[in-house]
Amino acid sequence: MKEYLLPHYDERQTPVDMLVLHTTAFNGDKAVECLDKLKLSVHYILTIEGELIKLVDERNRAWHVGVGFWRGVEQDLNSHAIGIEICSPSLGQESFSNAQIEKLIHFCSKLVRKYKIVPQNVVGHSDVAPLRKPDPGMAFPWKRLANEGIGLWYQPKNALKMAENNIAKLLDIIGYDTRNEEATKASAYAFCRHFAPQYVIIDKDIHHLVDNVLPQRFDFMNEEKFLQTLKAVAYSYQNLSRSSSPCNM
Ligand SMILES: [Zn+2]
Repeated sequence: MKEYLLPHYDERQTPVDMLVLHTTAFNGDKAVECLDKLKLSVHYILTIEGELIKLVDERNRAWHVGVGFWRGVEQDLNSHAIGIEICSPSLGQESFSNAQIEKLIHFCSKLVRKYKIVPQNVVGHSDVAPLRKPDPGMAFPWKRLANEGIGLWYQPKNALKMAENNIAKLLDIIGYDTRNEEATKASAYAFCRHFAPQYVIIDKDIHHLVDNVLPQRFDFMNEEKFLQTLKAVAYSYQNLSRSSSPCNM
């Protein structure tokens, strides 16, 4: 594996128990340069061609999440996480190449096994920072990864088994930030980026997208189909939390 080690890291304060996936509009060395200039880092970059570049040793805390929240943890997600930037000129709004995703699946499978990362802790940057981040993007193949044991997907029919109907409570079951109304709305949209991309507005202007992560309107939150998908996903997460060993977050 190619290495291009960056000096932007420090010591982990907790063991690794989380995988955070990102996209960057740059490719290869350009993506590395961009992070370096911003004094940020990530453990690996996966180029459009499917090549992995190592930037920070996994033992160290890379700087890629920023202010975030997931499953009640609101501090220092970087200490918990392995971070991977996936190069995508559309910032994950257009489909990824098969070679790239196959490489990603192969690599993430190893990480998930090595650190025993529970499926609920395989997340996108937008899941943990919904007010600020749009990546890895609505075209990211979460379902395909979940089929390979990386992260979690859902069965639509399980919506019927979920008694809860409150959107904030359902988002909370999954792990999203619902500490106030603004965060809840942003989390609902981040949920769409991950599980219901039909409600996500494509923005061809990447600079605009990066500065305008949220839509003007949140009408999708009134859609019955949105609620049913949310209920089905929450059911998956709730059941897994009950059946699997406690996560150390
Ligand atoms: Zn990111």
